[in-house]
Amino acid sequence: MNPLKPFEISFINLEQGLHTYHFDIDNSLLSHFDQKFEHAQFTCQLDFDKRSTLFDLHFTIDGKIKMDCDRCMESIYIPTASENKVIVKFNENEGQEVDIIYLNPNDTAINVGKLIYEFIMLAIPLRKVKDCESENFKDCNQKVLDYLDNQVIETEEKEEIENPLASALKDINITFNKK
Ligand SMILES: [Zn+2]
Repeated sequence: MNPLKPFEISFINLEQGLHTYHFDIDNSLLSHFDQKFEHAQFTCQLDFDKRSTLFDLHFTIDGKIKMDCDRCMESIYIPTASENKVIVKFNENEGQEVDIIYLNPNDTAINVGKLIYEFIMLAIPLRKVKDCESENFKDCNQKVLDYLDNQVIETEEKEEIENPLASALKDINITFNKK
């Protein structure tokens, strides 16, 4: 099945006003655009406001996606939540601006699959870490995190000893304090 098929909305016979759609998103949508995504679970609510000359689309997306943790390299679920608004207008010249999509006046349906994919991608944080210490289910590799914590302390101690300028400044400080 075409993974984009569930995201097709036929608006030609839709009455004017607000319509709500719910989508469950798994890997089939994400891997359609990028093969590297393997574990994704998202839900999307789309509030579709059909007006006389334009449509107002409001996407609310929640879920999680499995990615390599930037701290411990373990594959962990990164939670994301996002809200995005898009206006759909009609124009002979189809295209897309930041928050506006132009459909051909003859179009009868819009597929929101690619939009949802893009919104999920934008919601993934640049730094993939999770504060799982405060959660019941810890999916980070705690051994690696403990090891890294110790490394940081050791490096700090080492730098202090090996940096002659730092120790020189310390001596000056002591001299000043004495005066
Ligand atoms: Zn981690």
